[in-house]
Amino acid sequence: MLEIKDLHASVEGKEILKGISLKVNPGEVHAIMGPNGSGKSTLSQVIAGNPAYEVLSGEILYRGQDIQEMEAHERARAGLFLGFQYPVEIPGVTNIYFLKNALNAIRESNGEAPLDAYEFNEYLLQKMDEVGMSHELTRRAVNSGFSGGEKKRNEILQLLVLNPRLAILDETDSGLDIDALKTVAGGVEKFRNSENGVILVTHYQRLLDFIPPDFVHVLIDGKIVLSGDSKLALELESKGYNWVKEEEYAG
Ligand code: ADP
Ligand code: MG
Ligand code: MG
Repeated sequence: MLEIKDLHASVEGKEILKGISLKVNPGEVHAIMGPNGSGKSTLSQVIAGNPAYEVLSGEILYRGQDIQEMEAHERARAGLFLGFQYPVEIPGVTNIYFLKNALNAIRESNGEAPLDAYEFNEYLLQKMDEVGMSHELTRRAVNSGFSGGEKKRNEILQLLVLNPRLAILDETDSGLDIDALKTVAGGVEKFRNSENGVILVTHYQRLLDFIPPDFVHVLIDGKIVLSGDSKLALELESKGYNWVKEEEYAG
């Protein structure tokens, strides 16, 4: 589904990603962990196509096709989803309008008929019930005046409504409290199936207590220095990141 080969990328002229290779198959959950400033959010933004980030070299293959020439909205239509660490507010655009248009754009690119207002409403209310979200929030402008918890729930609602092929959730540094952790975890567990993939970016191991990943990758200074299974996350929790650095330099 996704294959990244020796990716180098910069922001504001500074090289941040220094040779990343990563392969995500359908059905897999990959956790990207690493100390602050190691490039985790940069990696998420580069995959999603944020134009502020420049790819210097390497390949990003999505379903076998290099997506570097595709703009962010084209990648989204093709089934890539980036959850925002700090969800944006869109005043004047209601949640229901935003989601219906986003979903129908994806359906159109898959050759599926758009949902009409009635069909979409039924579908949306069902998804809102799944994430335990008040139906009243559909009429509010996207994220405007939402509490932190409501924004997080809204991000997960977007994930379940749009049902992308590959979801990248950047939860780093967002100081998730226990309720938000459970919201994210519950949403990912509902989303997770044999056909889609998840890249879960997180600074902390505790999110992974709720979402057991298939693979854990440690990103330090723009490189994946170690990969393993969920046991690696536990090891990082007890030993921190310094021992990884020492092993890397020793090796
Ligand atoms: P992480 O998510 O692992 O904490 P980031 O990807 O946010 O790391 O940041 C990696 C490095 O890139 C940091 O040194 C950060 O200051 C820099 N960086 C990221 N985004 C920008 C930006 N838009 N402008 C300038 N520097 C940036
Ligand atoms: Mg950071
Ligand atoms: Mg980050």
